[in-house]
Amino acid sequence: MIAPRLLRGLAALGVVVALRSDGVTAQSHALPQEDVQAIFKRLLPQIEQIRIFDHHAHPGFGDDPDVDAQATPPQHLPRRARDTNPEVLFALKALFEYPYADLSEEHMRWLAERSAAAEKSGRTDYFDKILDKCGIEASVANRVAMATYLNPQRFRWVFFVDSFLFPFDNKLVTAANPDEGVYIPLQEKVLRRYMQQAGVRTLPDRFDDYLAFITRVLEENQRKGGIAEKFEIAYFRSLYFADPPREAADRVYQKYSKGGVPTPEDYTLFQDFVFRYLISEGGRLHLPVHIHSAIGEGDYFSLRRGNVLNLENIVKDARYLGTTFVLIHGGYPFFREIIWLASMNNVYIDTSEIEVLTYPSEFKNVLKVWLQTYPEKITFGTDAYPFSNVLGSEETYWLGVYSARDALASVLAEMVASRELTEAEALTMARGYLHDNATRLYPPLPR
Ligand SMILES: [Zn+2]
Repeated sequence: MIAPRLLRGLAALGVVVALRSDGVTAQSHALPQEDVQAIFKRLLPQIEQIRIFDHHAHPGFGDDPDVDAQATPPQHLPRRARDTNPEVLFALKALFEYPYADLSEEHMRWLAERSAAAEKSGRTDYFDKILDKCGIEASVANRVAMATYLNPQRFRWVFFVDSFLFPFDNKLVTAANPDEGVYIPLQEKVLRRYMQQAGVRTLPDRFDDYLAFITRVLEENQRKGGIAEKFEIAYFRSLYFADPPREAADRVYQKYSKGGVPTPEDYTLFQDFVFRYLISEGGRLHLPVHIHSAIGEGDYFSLRRGNVLNLENIVKDARYLGTTFVLIHGGYPFFREIIWLASMNNVYIDTSEIEVLTYPSEFKNVLKVWLQTYPEKITFGTDAYPFSNVLGSEETYWLGVYSARDALASVLAEMVASRELTEAEALTMARGYLHDNATRLYPPLPR
């Protein structure tokens, strides 16, 4: 606090010092001016009361092939995501009243039996209860298709669109590295499924008809409840998309739609065009475009090709101002850079994966830079996914929510103590991050 005598002195000199309603001066400081722990303890229980919207998750049972359009290749997991993470025990106790104090194989069987019984029942109350225990009002279900065991009042479908970029012979892409050998055949499967859905037996003769087929699937998926389209394209190629003319993409289509292995140059050009078509359609149909923008699974994921800054020419292209972009996983580890893309009205940043990949002490640093810069553009997600027998989508929900609340209360306590905002403003910011910033992007749930 500035001493009253100093304030009077400044006033006498004609210096206006802004005072907030609670008497705190608006002058910020690098060092905390109050007890950060005390503010944290006041904020956390209030943050725990906020009903959450999870903007990115893949809910489902471990053996459900529709959970994702890709499988997990063999990889070296970071420390917190390993089966040995003892924090999972807290999740199991909170979610299932797990009666054991370890994660032994025998005790894991107790858990597997419960989930198998829930899956067999086909009822929606199992995953509803998981959301309830985590304080999640509703969650995105980013899946190939929705499951009947997910309640449509709580889970909102986000469907994949990458497969439209791989309609030709994918021999070269599949052989690029062991991860692609796992991923690309699954993309081919998704495309076949979309073709079947649209009643298309083989690739259409004309490129125009191929684009019309894409639109038909987007519109139909939206009618079926889809609220956004999702790219995980950074797993398969660079996030840099050039701007080729339609005639050039048409030429490539004519060359390979009936067979033949495309050269990398031809395939890239075709994909650059179709990607832009998909994001334009996302604007026209009011389907926000979700793009995986961070380090991904698998040891071969390319940080350089997947760097979110590759998307700068897309999200800053005035032709796409009508498209809402959600940069999934916040471009991690390039979090200091990505926040400046959120200056665009139509660009949002999602924090999923980061809270679970890192510890709250690191996630706090990420969140702080973001909430200090464009707080109204930051949205919460868990990336809940059946990663393993120990860390299923259920446990990831819990771990993501727990970590985000802990980091969020810490960041806001520091910001309040540094006089960057008031406690009331901190809670408004928390509600924005955990719920409001994301829900205003979508139509309300049908009743
Ligand atoms: Zn994900």
